[in-house]
Amino acid sequence: MGTQINDIEAKEIRVSYGIHEILKGVTLEAEQKKFIGIIGPNGSGKTTLLKCIYRTLDPAQGAVYIGGEPLTSMKPRESAKRLAVVAQHNYYNFEFSVQEVVLMGRSPHKKALERDNAQDYEIARRALQTVGMEAFSGRSFSTLSGGEQQRVILARALAQQTPCLVLDEPTNHLDVTHQLQLLKIVKNLGVTVVSAIHDLNIAASFCDILYVMKDGRIEGHGAPAEVLTTDFIRTIYNVETEITRDSRGKMHILFLS
Ligand code: ADP
Repeated sequence: MGTQINDIEAKEIRVSYGIHEILKGVTLEAEQKKFIGIIGPNGSGKTTLLKCIYRTLDPAQGAVYIGGEPLTSMKPRESAKRLAVVAQHNYYNFEFSVQEVVLMGRSPHKKALERDNAQDYEIARRALQTVGMEAFSGRSFSTLSGGEQQRVILARALAQQTPCLVLDEPTNHLDVTHQLQLLKIVKNLGVTVVSAIHDLNIAASFCDILYVMKDGRIEGHGAPAEVLTTDFIRTIYNVETEITRDSRGKMHILFLS
């Protein structure tokens, strides 16, 4: 099968801040409609890599391709039709209503100054309904809790109706119910997802493929059960673990003190 609209590829990405090389030649492939997790210790370069993919950072070397086309050859509006982003929560400080924030997801589909129409409002309403935030539509975004804001930002990304979605630790402000809710929503979208995830059990449970980063490099990738072994976790995180299976056969990582 040739390249599909849902394919994301980052090839040999290098990024430096001053004299520090943060990404040292990172290659990642997200096949269509798979849920790709990026794991690795704090500071290993996950956010920096995602920023290159969602186009807020230009790599010094290497390139990102969406549907086989280099991002650099696309207008921002074109890449926004292909890829939506839920970045880290602390980026958002909007003085807008929840509905207005979600409607921003429609802007790549509109001409300059074209007003939102009934279809846009319906798409926004459904997106809010999907994340369980429909009742908050008229509220000021800035009055929401961190977790509520995170779900609204996901709704904005859903309203963008893109074949690819990038998430940067999307569950870090959510309680366990909403963590699972958000990840189930994302998993069932039928789009290609690339997400940084710090919780290894969540990564194991939801991702099809994991990429493991350390010190600006990809140290390994594969299905969760292949990657998340006691030895490899020790190499990457310097912690001891036991891997078990529950009664349904799902793997769990226990951290030994
Ligand atoms: P992760 O998401 O895996 O925690 P990051 O990509 O946020 O890692 O950061 C990787 C490294 O790059 C860290 O050492 C961080 O301090 C550094 N870094 C990130 N952004 C900047 C910046 N704007 N200037 C200098 N260093 C940065």
